[in-house]
Amino acid sequence: MTSKFLLILIVMAIHIGAQAQIADKIKKEAQKQAEYSFELCKHLHQNPELSFQEFETAKRMAKELNELGFEVTENFGGNSVVGVFRNGDGPTVLLRTDMDALPIEEKTDLSFASTKTADLNGDDVAVMHACGHDIHMSTWTGTARTLMALKEEWKGTLVVIAQQAEEYSGGAGEAIEAGLFKKFPTPDYALAYHINPELESGQIGLVGGPVFAGVKTTEITVFGKGGHGAYPQKCIDPIVIASRIVMDLQTIVSREISPLEPVVVTVGSIHGGTRPNIIPDEVKMELTLRYYSEEAIEQVIAAIKRISNSAAKAAGMPDDKMPLVFVSPVETPPVLNNEQLSARLQQAASGIIGFENSIKTSPEMVGEDFGKYGRTAENVPICLIWLGSTSPEEMKKLNAEGKKPYPLHSPRLNPDYKNTIETGIVVMTGNVIELLKK
Ligand SMILES: [Zn+2]
Ligand SMILES: [Zn+2]
Repeated sequence: MTSKFLLILIVMAIHIGAQAQIADKIKKEAQKQAEYSFELCKHLHQNPELSFQEFETAKRMAKELNELGFEVTENFGGNSVVGVFRNGDGPTVLLRTDMDALPIEEKTDLSFASTKTADLNGDDVAVMHACGHDIHMSTWTGTARTLMALKEEWKGTLVVIAQQAEEYSGGAGEAIEAGLFKKFPTPDYALAYHINPELESGQIGLVGGPVFAGVKTTEITVFGKGGHGAYPQKCIDPIVIASRIVMDLQTIVSREISPLEPVVVTVGSIHGGTRPNIIPDEVKMELTLRYYSEEAIEQVIAAIKRISNSAAKAAGMPDDKMPLVFVSPVETPPVLNNEQLSARLQQAASGIIGFENSIKTSPEMVGEDFGKYGRTAENVPICLIWLGSTSPEEMKKLNAEGKKPYPLHSPRLNPDYKNTIETGIVVMTGNVIELLKK
């Protein structure tokens, strides 16, 4: 063995030893903070607030950051809260959590289940954290606390944002438009985490490249000629036209788009008519469209317009009464994880929780507004990581019964709160320290 080779081995051994030491420190500190975060999570779970109404939640997030010594800005681009902590020279990492809950009536038997209601467009609706944003906030707070306790291990600037209205895709855009990357240090990396009931608590899931789909919402108003249900010959029935449109829309994905291109066209709501004996004047439909490529989504929208018009024409509607196809300007672009950053974070996480717990996941057709953080002129590399949230025992039981865990947005969503939070803190802290290590 040459002395040079021996030296390389010694340096490698020291490096691995130092890494193991940091991993140990992170785990120990995270374990301590997880207790605090779990209590915070119970509080947040019992006090959920709808999108754009996250007033108390935002106050609590600001309080947590103030206590840790962050420079805190409240009501940023709506209810979002931004915190900055400067810990010497080095890169800037942005860590994002979302704050909003959903208009869902909780059906779990948790001791801290939500019984809250809130006003949604004039209706009093039950509210629940059914997308795990309570866990995200608690983990995010726990990570900030852990990073403060381990200040000696990193150098650089930490920017954290508790973002409003993820579920409506209004939060990310408003924060960016309000100058998130201009009024605060521009991040070199932006990270976010989301629970995933399909993975076990203690695991994370990650993939470079496309991870969440783009979302567009479309409304179709179909016009007809209303009248008595007993005189169809004197009317043009928009319910029949709408029914044809719904069926023909099914051929967009199956016949018009390349089978290799991921696209979803779902008609999620259809409303028309009031009584059995009245042919109505119009029918309204709402669609959600999911996509990865801009070209494909443009093709889908053109097809929706063409199919809607053809059905109305075939029924004899005049040219000035063709269906209105309205594509909402509020949209969620696809989330594209930066390949290099994802590989680096996956390796860092594996070094702490083990390779067997760092799962390579597949892209999904659900949407997340975090993608917007990576689509500005600053071109910030972003990475969104899944946090497994179903306890291994529960997963084993479900597998044996041939069942699946309750999905996100289920009134019965039952994450393994404590372990999910603890693993989340470990992984997030480990990721930030990897990017800001001395
Ligand atoms: Zn959600
Ligand atoms: Zn969510």
